[in-house]
Order: sequence, then structure tokens, then C-alpha cells
Amino acid sequence: MTASYQVMLQLPGWLHDCVREWDSTALSTREQRMAFVIELSRRNVLHKTGGPFAAAVFERGSGRLIAPAVNIVVPSNTSVAHAETMAFMLAQQRLKTFDLGAPHLPAMELVASSQPCIQCFGNTWWSGVQALTIGARAEDVEEITSFREGPLPGNWVELLENRPAPLKPITVTRDLLRDQACAVLSLYRDSGGLVYNAGSES
Ligand SMILES: [Zn+2]
Repeated sequence: MTASYQVMLQLPGWLHDCVREWDSTALSTREQRMAFVIELSRRNVLHKTGGPFAAAVFERGSGRLIAPAVNIVVPSNTSVAHAETMAFMLAQQRLKTFDLGAPHLPAMELVASSQPCIQCFGNTWWSGVQALTIGARAEDVEEITSFREGPLPGNWVELLENRPAPLKPITVTRDLLRDQACAVLSLYRDSGGLVYNAGSES
């Protein structure tokens, strides 16, 4: 047998049903997109298919869904398999480009149920999206679940919104449906979900 060095990451099967069931015309506003993403995070908890986080890449103007994703760190044995990172990788593979800001594409937006961690901040920076919309804050994640988010710079929003030329700015919107996003974090905690922080003592 020839050795294979391919990496394959599989999002949970229920994701297809969830996308099919959702009224795709109900994704035109940012609130609707966030409600959809929070529902994905809730289902990821209920199905026990990963951490309480979801994210999706949309066309910013039309709201067309490009790539829905959830956290699959534990089931995939992959520490980088955070929801935001999965959404970027899926969107780029589906659109066959490493750059979601490529000139032939409409502007793209990442909607995430929680604030990106240190890794996903970096991946957002290099993804090509031009907007980032977030539900729960990092402090919500850390207080409710004790997941750790890593040492993000204090001015991370400013850094994204004022990127040096020729990089396009990434507009950040926070606290959208924050309470609903936090409710999923609480659901995960109350259902005894595994809190993993690779490299820690616990
Ligand atoms: Zn992350």
C-alpha cells in the first residue's frame, strides 16, 4: 500500500439536513445569518459532534450560504478544526481559491457564533473575507465553558478594520444575538461537554 499523506476532515452528516431544512431566503440579514449559525452550534452540542461553536461563510451582499461549519476538534483528532477555520477551508475548496477576496468573487463575510480565538483571528486575517460578525465574546466563552482563547492582541478589532494596504479592511460586528450564542455555551457546559485545551495540564 502506498503511503498517503492526505489530510481529510469530515463535517458531521446532520449538517446537510440542517442546511436543507433552513429557508435559504431567510439569510438576507445579518441577524438571520447569525440565527442560522447559532442553530448549527446548538445542534453540534445536541448531536455531540464537537465543541459548542459554529461559523459560516456567506456572500456579504446576498446572504448566499457558501460554507457552513462546526467545531470538530475532538472527533477529527485535529486541534485546528475550529468552526471558523473549517468554514474558511470549506469555502475555499468549494470556490477553488485560496483567496475569498479574489477579484472575481463578491465580498464574503464570516459569521461566527463566538469570537475567534488566536488561531482563527490569524486565519480570518488571511482568508480574504471582508467582514466578520460575532455572537458571543471571548469572555463569555471563557466564563461559561472555561475554553481558552489564547493571547489575542487587545486591539484585534482595530487591527482587522485598519489593515495595511494593499490588504482590504475586515469590518467587525460584535454582540449580534449574543444572548442566544451564550445560551448554547451554557447548554454545552450543562450537558457535560468536554472542555479541551490542547497543551494544558488538565
Ligand atoms: Zn479558533
